[in-house]
Amino acid sequence: RHLPYFCRGRVVHGFGRGSKQLGIPTANFPEQVVDNLPADISTGIYYGWASVGSGDVHKMVVSIGWNPYYKNTKKSMETHIMHTFKEDFYGEILNVAIVGYLRPEKNFELSSSSTMEAYKSAVRAYHET
Ligand code: ADP
Ligand code: MG
Repeated sequence: RHLPYFCRGRVVHGFGRGSKQLGIPTANFPEQVVDNLPADISTGIYYGWASVGSGDVHKMVVSIGWNPYYKNTKKSMETHIMHTFKEDFYGEILNVAIVGYLRPEKNFELSSSSTMEAYKSAVRAYHET
């Protein structure tokens, strides 16, 4: 109902839920950007397009979930861009266009490896689209 949804913000450090070591880094948006999401937007995994600064546009999947920092009272928004970047882009402006909904959020008490599996299968599903 709210799609497509556009937003942008400076990439901040996350809480290590997406993980580079597991091959799925997730760029986190600051609180203000997340607070601007429509209040009734469903949590889950979405897909769309993203660019960093004035760089190229790439496919992305973004998880809208609950932020453990705020005892899951606030949402979080983490974007995995399907592109290999030469270096990290903390502090740069991330532009995101959310186009569609892939699947609901898995139980957020699951371990982070399950979160990674959810991301990976979402990425696979997206490639098959
Ligand atoms: P954090 O917990 O700080 O978010 P992550 O392990 O999730 O740490 O890594 C996220 C960071 O990795 C991003 O902020 C960004 O600077 C960098 N990064 C590099 N490649 C990508 C990518 N393809 N998608 C998202 N972030 C990426
Ligand atoms: Mg992250």
